[in-house]
Amino acid sequence: MKITDLKCAVIGNSPVVRILTDEGLYGHGQIEESKPYVKPQVLFYRDLILGQDPTDVERVMLNIRRMGAFKPWGSAVSAIEMALWDIAGKAAGVPVYKLLGGKIRNKVRAYLTGGSSIPGSQPEDCAARVKEVKALDEGYTITKQAVAFHSGMPHAVDNYFFGEPQSGGRYLNRGMLTERGLQHTIDCAIAMKEALGDEVGLALDCGPGMMVPDAIRLARALESQHFMWLEDMITGDYTPYVLADLYRQVTESTSTPIHTGEQIYLRQNFKDLFEKQAINVAGPDPADVGGIAEMKWIAEYADLHGILMAPHGVIDGLFGLAAHVHMCAVMPQNLIAFECPRSSAEWWYDIVSGLPEKIVVDGFVDVLEAPGLGVDFIEEEARRYLDEEDAGFFD
Ligand SMILES: [Mg+2]
Repeated sequence: MKITDLKCAVIGNSPVVRILTDEGLYGHGQIEESKPYVKPQVLFYRDLILGQDPTDVERVMLNIRRMGAFKPWGSAVSAIEMALWDIAGKAAGVPVYKLLGGKIRNKVRAYLTGGSSIPGSQPEDCAARVKEVKALDEGYTITKQAVAFHSGMPHAVDNYFFGEPQSGGRYLNRGMLTERGLQHTIDCAIAMKEALGDEVGLALDCGPGMMVPDAIRLARALESQHFMWLEDMITGDYTPYVLADLYRQVTESTSTPIHTGEQIYLRQNFKDLFEKQAINVAGPDPADVGGIAEMKWIAEYADLHGILMAPHGVIDGLFGLAAHVHMCAVMPQNLIAFECPRSSAEWWYDIVSGLPEKIVVDGFVDVLEAPGLGVDFIEEEARRYLDEEDAGFFD
């Protein structure tokens, strides 16, 4: 079998990759819906993979993996990897998880980030938000909520930190917290924990942008509250480096689990974090780290170091959801849960087949059993959402 074409369409706001072959099989991969600008980068890889056998996934990846980088520039490589596994699974007539070593669980635990539209940055607003999450049909057993520099707090709380609050979605704020800012963060965290009780685990996305002493103070202040983890306090998101030694100072200073990794590209960039015991939980995103198999390597190496896995994925879309499910089916027992992708546009659920009507039940997603990723476009429905320049995407 040979790859005959690589296409990319921005559907809604999500770049979707489609790889075609000379045997009529095709595969899909998806990029975070915050990154429509990545489309030209996807197409850049086209000439590097044409003519190759898509079922030799690793051989194809060797051609393009070097030409990627930390978030957002690992996403195109990652989505191509997903699409190759989709084809390889279809060609073998088995679900992707079988090609990754076989599943060790029949359903995978999903956690919910956000999940409420209640605004506000006061403790009572935060508590109201998680009460709404707790009442959701899906029965999530873990939720993650934003505080500190990951939230509106630097703008909503006067004198939150020693710096000028900046706007923008790339997490530009960084600096030492004032006493008021730190206490406000702790008050919001505890208000959420009290609202959830011990029935739903609570993780906090905190940064990036916190300084080491504040990170230690926040983690220690919450020790008796049994949070799932504190995420990305020092670096994360669009930070193109890791700073393992700083994370190690924080992690060694507290019993609260410390988490990072969503921005990281490739297994090599987890080596320091793991070997230095710099974190307790790693959260790479299969749509940024280099793909599904890359995650398996990272999860196994984390497990050897006593480090847990909680993959990032909130805006990876429905093909991304399928990728998470296959990947989590095969991860070792250091897996906590994956961050469940939820499409911002409801119509996405009408243009993709292969997912159950109710995707998350009692906080879990059943492992998908159809060949490949197990999801596909319903072409006649999906065509309605193609831009003019992508009109030939399904041809
Ligand atoms: Mg995060």
